[in-house]
Amino acid sequence: MSISREQIRELAELQDENTCAVSFYYQPSAPRNKAHKEDIILIKDLARESLRRIQDKAKRDCARQDIERIVRLSTELRTNGTHGKAVFTCADKNVWREFDVPAELGSTQIFIDRHFHLKPLARLLGASPLLAVVLVDKHRARIFDLRLGELAERDDLFHPLSRRGRSDGFGGYDGGHAQRRVEDEVRHHFKNVAGLLKELQEKGVFEKWILACQDAHRPIFESQLHPYISQTLIGHFNADLGHVSADEIRTHAQQILDRWHDERRQDMMNQTLSQARSNGRGVTGLRRVLRSLELGEVQTLLVGENLQGHAVECTRCGHIDAHLVSFCPVCGHATQEIVDVGEAILPWVVRRDIETFYVKDDPEFDKVGNIAALLRFRSEKVQPISVSAAEDLEKAGAEYPGRLRRYARR
Ligand SMILES: [Zn+2]
Repeated sequence: MSISREQIRELAELQDENTCAVSFYYQPSAPRNKAHKEDIILIKDLARESLRRIQDKAKRDCARQDIERIVRLSTELRTNGTHGKAVFTCADKNVWREFDVPAELGSTQIFIDRHFHLKPLARLLGASPLLAVVLVDKHRARIFDLRLGELAERDDLFHPLSRRGRSDGFGGYDGGHAQRRVEDEVRHHFKNVAGLLKELQEKGVFEKWILACQDAHRPIFESQLHPYISQTLIGHFNADLGHVSADEIRTHAQQILDRWHDERRQDMMNQTLSQARSNGRGVTGLRRVLRSLELGEVQTLLVGENLQGHAVECTRCGHIDAHLVSFCPVCGHATQEIVDVGEAILPWVVRRDIETFYVKDDPEFDKVGNIAALLRFRSEKVQPISVSAAEDLEKAGAEYPGRLRRYARR
């Protein structure tokens, strides 16, 4: 079963300083004879190593049963190299979630931490919209979901042409009449499909879509679309609904999606950096991006694949600080150094559904610190809250978002 955004959000919620959340990512080796055996040896090594690194005995004991279960699972894994696996488990909290993912994880990994590690998934999902692929011909329409490289059929609409519509006529008046009748029926069918698309999009079934039909039908079909459905169309390809295979659909659609994604990332990068230069709705560098995340200003986040930043995290309230302070400036609890800041910010990103792009080897991006954000607004322009109001908030306790207080003090 492939993973949904809702499920990732649920995983991001789990955060507890006393727990041991185990995340396991399985990247199958290229299909070779002994590959699976080698995979199992690697997984056993990783399992042993990850347990050894935990200093706290209680936590190690807690993680052990999860780790053992993962090792057992891995001996049963049968994939031909086309699928990877992601498992999130925390026996402590009664959590065991298992997902098939595309075999594009890079490597097999095990993490034991006080929260799940989601970065390999975030890289896969990135800013991928919920995508529909719509196949249309004169009397049929098939609607597919494309999610993490998996194609699943959602709807199959069939409108048989009426008997009169189907007849060719004899030319002359009757023939022309029959011809118009067919055109009317086709237009009516296209209109129905357009209506269904509008309904599905309003329900949140998809955000973007790709059209596949014969080129000749495209202008007539597109003329039936509601303007805002047209705006979410990201590409099309020529296909004969009756003959195209699932593999062909997936390949074409994935190419269109990848291209769209690359263009959007480049566009967001240009906008963010130019906004940051003009001191507008863009920020760069770890410190300023962290602050904007906590202020809830971030609309789109750009993260370098090799972001290396030093930061600490409060194990009680989750505040992340690029100053290496020993105690949390928000709630006063002790902080811990973060090994991978790109991982640590993900729960924020997932919870707020922030569009995130991973950027690979970009010298210009490297210069600004490998992290940047495009903001929906800048809270500097919002009326500042008074210092006394901030102190009232302080009394409200640790569960209150620290960002307001920190903001008032600036
Ligand atoms: Zn704190």
